[in-house]
Amino acid sequence: MIICDGYCNKYYNENEIFEFKGRKYCEECYVKIKNDDVELQALKNYVRHIFKYQPNKMILNQINKYNKENGWSYKNIRLTLEYITVVRGLEINYKYGIGLVPFYYDDMINYHKARLKKMQEVENTKKKSKHVNVNKKKDNMHAFNKKRMVNMDDLEDDDE
Ligand SMILES: [Zn+2]
Repeated sequence: MIICDGYCNKYYNENEIFEFKGRKYCEECYVKIKNDDVELQALKNYVRHIFKYQPNKMILNQINKYNKENGWSYKNIRLTLEYITVVRGLEINYKYGIGLVPFYYDDMINYHKARLKKMQEVENTKKKSKHVNVNKKKDNMHAFNKKRMVNMDDLEDDDE
């Protein structure tokens, strides 16, 4: 039996273990760890994109602190940086690293929640308009049948 190096602290059989960067994980932790790694890389790339420099030691410490102490995912830290620089159009001073993130984290969450809600509303409107279209079709059929009936009446009238 092998203990997982991830979050679960559980034992697994050798054939249930996945290796990543020299450590051993169960499938669930492996997926999380690998995803975290991808997100951390994306965050570092974003930092480099903002400052035109590689993240320095202070920034790496900030990232680590926000992730471990605040429990914020690397992805959400990146989204907060995006929110600050793109949505709010603010400039970040390299001297302070990503120290603005805690001040805008909640705003970022609310912003994305509002966006999601709007998207769902648009989606619902689409569904509703589809419904309307179906009803229109039925109405058209109804009108068509009515017309036919009228025409048949006319024919009958003509026959008389
Ligand atoms: Zn695990």
